[in-house]
Amino acid sequence: MILVSSCLAGLEVRYNGTHCLNQKIRQMLDENKARTVCPELLGGFSTPREPAEIIGGDGGDVLDGKARVIEKTGRDVTELYINGAYITLRKAQELNATAVVLKEFSPSCGSSKIYNGEFLGKKMSGNGVTSALLKRNGIRVVSEEGLTDLFPEED
Ligand code: SF4
Repeated sequence: MILVSSCLAGLEVRYNGTHCLNQKIRQMLDENKARTVCPELLGGFSTPREPAEIIGGDGGDVLDGKARVIEKTGRDVTELYINGAYITLRKAQELNATAVVLKEFSPSCGSSKIYNGEFLGKKMSGNGVTSALLKRNGIRVVSEEGLTDLFPEED
């Protein structure tokens, strides 16, 4: 069983009420091989919500108290992001998830790149808050772009 970002499964839970459906992930849900999770909703947000970015580092720095998650209009939402990350970790552990597939670039779910905190669409290397916490707890995290590493295409 794997855990996947809800928005990759086609659920309209992104900050702006959209999804980013990935057909392979949808198929895994239909075959009962995956469960969905949205760390931001679990952390206490609703949809739609303000876009947010990490200021001063990446998700690991947020967990270490060295960076903050800030909404575009300035509200500090760090604690909600950390809350969602810990609930997601518990879900992954309860499921004994073999891997977690999370949406790239999100301040929660990004696993190799995130937005850089300027709200200008610029990306940088780093983890979102949830990805950082899962990795620190030994859970394999890949993005939708890493799906083929998890499930190599058969000839
Ligand atoms: Fe939720 Fe993660 Fe998708 Fe954002 S990227 S909507 S936190 S599942």
